[in-house]
Amino acid sequence: MTYQNIVILTGAGISAESGLSTFRDEGGLWAKHRIEDVATPEAFIKNPDLVQGFYNARRRQLQDVTPNGAHLALAKLEKEHSGPVTIITQNVDDLHERALSHNVIHMHGELSKVRCTQCGRVQLWLGDCTQDKACSACGKSPALRPYIVWFGELPYYMDRIHGLLGQCDLFISIGTSGTVYPAAGFVADVQKAGYAHTLEINLEPSAGISYFAEARFGKAGDLVPVLVDELLGK
Ligand code: NAD
Repeated sequence: MTYQNIVILTGAGISAESGLSTFRDEGGLWAKHRIEDVATPEAFIKNPDLVQGFYNARRRQLQDVTPNGAHLALAKLEKEHSGPVTIITQNVDDLHERALSHNVIHMHGELSKVRCTQCGRVQLWLGDCTQDKACSACGKSPALRPYIVWFGELPYYMDRIHGLLGQCDLFISIGTSGTVYPAAGFVADVQKAGYAHTLEINLEPSAGISYFAEARFGKAGDLVPVLVDELLGK
């Protein structure tokens, strides 16, 4: 079977083998903080220094990690496949870009950027961000917040994503637990559209497993390169 229009949803599991912890990893950054304390708009209003500190630590971690075989294989797929390949990622790391994938949609934002709450400007930010730093566009401070979609906020690019889900003929989900909406509902949307093959790659069955036509269980770093070779007919 050959496919033309491929859409891939990635989650924290694809970056786990690079050394970035998923939500569930024991001892990871997430294990040390409650979501309500660091990943909601209310948390930022209540304790901006704590929230900035949490994302500063995650941003610093990016310097110590590199893309793994799964990220690299998806970049190869984009380069060598004859049709469009789009990655929709829930991840805020930049490992897809560093593997040289170009067609990447960051629906939950990006660690390497900040957004001005006063003028809306999004800018690249590779170091620590603190409340005393001013926005380079409007000059105000405190004004900068992590360019991250927190719980209770709307993900970015949803119109574009729904268009893609309705048009693809292969939908692949990699390393996501299927518990955070709206991403968890994408496979059901694809299924409703009616003609795409759906494939899950994960360590274990996700919460949305019953919506997938096919599933492969194991590490993304092992399974994704094999899948990409299959799709490229190698
Ligand atoms: P999650 O932590 O809920 O689930 C991760 C899934 O990946 C699990 O089902 C797990 O079994 C699987 N997994 C773990 N290691 C794997 C491997 N080596 N190969 C294949 N699968 C593996 O993550 P999620 O579903 O992406 O959850 C939601 C939220 O977590 C998102 O909002 C995302 O923004 C955030 N998050 C992002 C990062 C990142 O940017 N790297 C890291 C942690 C959390």
